[in-house]
Amino acid sequence: MSHRSLDLSLDVTGRRVLIVGGSRLARRVIARYLAAGAIVFLAADTYEVPHPDVRPVEWPRSPAGWRNLVSAVDLVVAVDLPPKSDPLLVAACADRSVWLTREAAAPVSRPGHVTLVGGGPGDNDLLTVGALNALRGADIVYHDRLGPHDLLDQWAPGAEHVNVGKQPGHHAVPQVEIERMLVASALAGLTVVRLKGGDPFVFGRGGEEVAACRAAGVSVTVISGVTSAISVPALAGIPVTHREVSRLFTVLSGHVPLSEEELAHLVGLGGTIVVLMGVGTLPHLASGLARHGMAADMPIAIIERGFSSQQRTTVADISTVVTVAGEVGARSPAVLVIGEVVRLAQCDDAAAVAELANAATLTGQR
Ligand code: SAH
Repeated sequence: MSHRSLDLSLDVTGRRVLIVGGSRLARRVIARYLAAGAIVFLAADTYEVPHPDVRPVEWPRSPAGWRNLVSAVDLVVAVDLPPKSDPLLVAACADRSVWLTREAAAPVSRPGHVTLVGGGPGDNDLLTVGALNALRGADIVYHDRLGPHDLLDQWAPGAEHVNVGKQPGHHAVPQVEIERMLVASALAGLTVVRLKGGDPFVFGRGGEEVAACRAAGVSVTVISGVTSAISVPALAGIPVTHREVSRLFTVLSGHVPLSEEELAHLVGLGGTIVVLMGVGTLPHLASGLARHGMAADMPIAIIERGFSSQQRTTVADISTVVTVAGEVGARSPAVLVIGEVVRLAQCDDAAAVAELANAATLTGQR
């Protein structure tokens, strides 16, 4: 008989759910149903990955045994059953009018796999479908402080969550240690997600993590994310390119001050300049660009804490920006945009953030 199915969203709080399948293959399904508040029973031929909150039951040996078992629960979830048992379970559920659903088993490849996932600039709507799928299938998620992580329980309910970012009062986990953790988890057979803010390859040290995995023989893939370099200016109404205004944009890190040569090239190149991690070196950058011939009235925008309720856009020009930034107390994280496109900026941040939330409601995203 061919099976047809329909995706449903069920409230399983307090419901008895029987999961049938090996404990290792079913580990993420078990975690998801527990996280959703179900009372989880497990009929498994093997108990390799015991879970303290799961109630194990005997594997039935007869059709009558299967019927007795399923009639004691509200929902049955089959995860990769042995071919001999599958028809017995289907028949028992039909006989006792108990719902049966099927869920994908979690792979148990050894070694596992690492996926670097770009989480976008902090707005949950800017997480990609690929990112959500990778999170849903993860056994362990290593995330940063800046990247989106407040809804991880929902996005990756079957996974352990490890914060490797800087916490107030604590140091960030050093980069080599992060790489060691990713590799060790994958070698233990886990499906690993490394969730980063923005795009993993834009000042995210993603390249180093990919190299570390490859060096250890661990397979690794990258899911690009929406970078703050484009999306944060966009929210302030600034397009990084605009017909007849700017046909190129340069993205740079302000972590270390630019050399005289770099400053000269940047001014010569023209177009839009986007600076990440640039609040600390702003005085050096502004005076350097002016020294190399940038027009004194070239506009510059400082967009702090993009996509948050405290987003703030400050517009000045290259000759006044250091004073203005000091007056308003501009702080990191912020994106700086230098160029004629800044004249298109919309400085009503509260309105922009509210508009975004409203549009998401209208399109049914929230
Ligand atoms: N990989 C990230 C950038 C990492 S560097 C990306 O593609 O976006 C961290 C810098 O990104 C911060 O110092 C800041 O300059 C910028 N940034 C990231 N998120 C931001 C946000 N929500 N608002 C403002 N700046 C942000």
